[in-house]
Amino acid sequence: MSAVILDGKSLGLRVEAKLGDRVSQLKKSGIEPHLAVVLAGDDPASHVYVRNKQRACERCGIKSTRVDLPNNVSQQELIQVVERLNADDSVHGILVQSPTPDGTDELEITETIDPSKDVDGFHPTNLGRLVMGQVDGMLPCTPAGVMELIKDAGIDLIGKKAVVIGRSRIVGMPLSLLLAQKGIDATVTIAHSRTHDIAEICRAADLVVAAIGRAETIQADWIKPGATVIDVGINRVADDSRESGSRLTGDVEPEAAKKAGYITPVPGGVGPMTISMLMSNTVKAAELRLN
Ligand code: NAP
Repeated sequence: MSAVILDGKSLGLRVEAKLGDRVSQLKKSGIEPHLAVVLAGDDPASHVYVRNKQRACERCGIKSTRVDLPNNVSQQELIQVVERLNADDSVHGILVQSPTPDGTDELEITETIDPSKDVDGFHPTNLGRLVMGQVDGMLPCTPAGVMELIKDAGIDLIGKKAVVIGRSRIVGMPLSLLLAQKGIDATVTIAHSRTHDIAEICRAADLVVAAIGRAETIQADWIKPGATVIDVGINRVADDSRESGSRLTGDVEPEAAKKAGYITPVPGGVGPMTISMLMSNTVKAAELRLN
């Protein structure tokens, strides 16, 4: 048996295409959706992520502005930039690319963003709404993208066992809440680095989500035949057979595709969905101005 591939690249493009109509409506009402991305420092991966987000904005007809700050930017300066963007009525979405430079406090910066412009969905107000079961607001992009992949494939999780491996604020924890919400109705186990017997927990699961950032840690023989496997991890590993000397891989052993019913590829699975959910949140934020 070989798993059905959950193609995030093509679903992401479909999601973006659907946003096109809403963007046109906004523009007819005199509102040009506008995402401001704050990029502090020179982390090469962050520069690639920001470039990909700006390209997605171009595809969707969303204006994007990039605010570049030096690696030695102070916490106070970063906060001032966010406050200026909060006050700018032409800006609908604000994203501060993570990680922010050493010596800055990312949580405080997140809390400074106006919750109605928090297109990353990380502000305590937006995470709090999610805890309260409100899932129509600014949801964190990666968890929301995972839910879209599951929905689009028609995977029924009612009463099913799900394990989310990883409990981060940006992926594992909010995704666990989304899977357990009424209407999705999975029974969710949250696993982490202190969990005993992860292999056994996985073997019993109908859905395994790996979000740990450790290359190919989740083994093929941990996967129940026919289970859905969502691989959130993005890890760069050495590969002498490539000209670049490295390649990207997920948190799940590729052989798991032989046992799973559905599986996300890395790259091309969750990554593109994260970006299309960012576009979706930006359009949603701009639509708030219609009311
Ligand atoms: P993170 O903040 O570092 O959290 C990692 C989580 O994994 C922690 O809860 C940690 O447990 C747990 N963990 C680490 N090693 C483990 C192990 N061997 N067994 C079980 N649990 C383990 O990472 P993150 O920000 O959530 O990101 C996770 C991965 O997803 C990374 O590879 C990241 O690049 C990727 N990612 C991808 C996207 C995308 O768009 N595709 C978006 C965001 C992140 P403790 O809590 O006990 O430390």
